[in-house]
Amino acid sequence: MSKIPCTPEEIKLPAEGELIRFENGRYVVPDKPIIAYIEGDGIGPEIVNHSMKVINAAVEKAYGGKRKIIWYELAAGEKAQHLCGELLPKGTLEAIKITKLAAKGPLTTPVGGGFRSLNVAIRMALDLYANIRPVRFYGQPAPSKYADKVDFVIFRENTEDLYKGVEWEMGSEEALKIINFVKKEFGVNLREDSGIGIKPISEFATKRLARKALQWAIKNKIPTVTIMHKGNIMKYTEGAFRRWAYEVAVNEFRDYIVTEQELWEKYNGQMPEGKILVNDRIADNMLQQIITRPWDYKMIVAPNINGDYISDEANALVGGIGMAAGLNAGDEMAVAEPVHGTAPKYAGKDVANPTAELLSMSLMVSQLMDWKEVGYLVEEALRRAIKDRKVTQDLTRHMPGVTPLKASEFRDALIGYIEEIEL
Ligand code: NAP
Repeated sequence: MSKIPCTPEEIKLPAEGELIRFENGRYVVPDKPIIAYIEGDGIGPEIVNHSMKVINAAVEKAYGGKRKIIWYELAAGEKAQHLCGELLPKGTLEAIKITKLAAKGPLTTPVGGGFRSLNVAIRMALDLYANIRPVRFYGQPAPSKYADKVDFVIFRENTEDLYKGVEWEMGSEEALKIINFVKKEFGVNLREDSGIGIKPISEFATKRLARKALQWAIKNKIPTVTIMHKGNIMKYTEGAFRRWAYEVAVNEFRDYIVTEQELWEKYNGQMPEGKILVNDRIADNMLQQIITRPWDYKMIVAPNINGDYISDEANALVGGIGMAAGLNAGDEMAVAEPVHGTAPKYAGKDVANPTAELLSMSLMVSQLMDWKEVGYLVEEALRRAIKDRKVTQDLTRHMPGVTPLKASEFRDALIGYIEEIEL
């Protein structure tokens, strides 16, 4: 086994694997690709190791010995602190730049003081600007009566908006300076006892997100792309987000899309065959419509904060965050990670649901590496396990009379289903 690299000089790739390349807008994947992984904190090591085993079983089932993922361990969080004396070693970031694809478990972020979120630091350092979150129903217990109609993917901007973290405390020198500045320069009165935050939304970041979302929609034949914004109130940030996203759709994907306005003006409300409808919805309206009419939504493109809120709400519709997958993607790199955190109270107890981590890895393998059979096997195995009520405690809690499986038993059940499924 390779040693975990703390520094770039210590990076020593596993000899039996080959590197994934990025050429002409796509990943070129050898039969034995090296993919990095980070176990993470809390329940991270358990869910990551279970998920890798299930993915390995699916690869083996789909391709026999012809293809195999060669996993390469990196460290961040507590393990990195222990091994390298720092929470996010340079060796980790540099190795991901080389392997291009990585999967990670959740990492601890203290509330209030302490260090900045390592998750955010990784996304920023690698410029993973699109947070891709599919929300889908697999038969799990869910609070929404329309859960079986939920099937959409959220593209959340990952690098700016209020998440940029540009803010100053009430009464600080910086906050008071800004309050005085806007009063003097623009005649705008802000209360002196205000904390100040800055909400940057740029044309560059919006357009690259919209571009990635539309490319994904075309590849996956997604019929509707909805731009989510609060542009009626925040005209020059979220309103501009809406305008720039439409500009990308109309100027760069003209042959593929029809806007909602064009649908009525040119096509009398009848969608032309094979085209993608691009529309937009105001955020508050959308937050209620995904509950009352989830079938209207197939892809949601949102600025960072809206994307944050709607993805938790959307996952709640189908049963909660133990199942919620995510992929942080840049132009030539991506890191798969679940939406949930380290759930410290379950760490080391063999009870945490590995599904969110597993679906995150599966999304990376099937969408970015184009090993589609792996995605199919994982999702079908999950459907069968849920149907047979072979699930972990977070799900059996809502299934009266069903005994929960340990996480390792659930992993083995999934592998058993994978072996049974006909391809
Ligand atoms: P959390 O770790 O997501 O856990 C909240 C609750 O969600 C758990 O108590 C548990 O609910 C449920 N849960 C989450 N994952 C589960 C799984 N795999 N299986 C079963 N149940 C699961 O959120 P948190 O307690 O707010 O945050 C803990 C730490 O994680 C913090 O340091 C936070 O900063 C960090 N975090 C990291 C990431 C990331 O790495 N991307 C994301 C979010 C949070 P029940 O109590 O109902 O059983």
